[in-house]
Amino acid sequence: MTTVKCPTCSAPVEWGPQSPYRPFCSKRCKLIDLGGWLDGSHRIPGEELPDSQGEFGAPGLPDNDEAER
Ligand SMILES: [Zn+2]
Repeated sequence: MTTVKCPTCSAPVEWGPQSPYRPFCSKRCKLIDLGGWLDGSHRIPGEELPDSQGEFGAPGLPDNDEAER
C-alpha cells in the first residue's frame, strides 16, 4: 500500500479507494488547500481573542460633591 502525505496537515494518507480525498487526508484538508476557509466558513480554532473585557477598569463613579451642597 502506498502512503502519501497530506499536503495540508502532513498526515499519512493511504493511496487507495478508501481515501477519496487523496492526496488529502480528509475533505476538510482538501477544502483548506483549495482556499475554502478564506470565505469565512472555516475558522481556525484558537484564533479568536477576547477583546471585549479588560480594556477598562471600574466604570466612572458618580460625582456627589455638588449634590450634598
Ligand atoms: Zn490532512
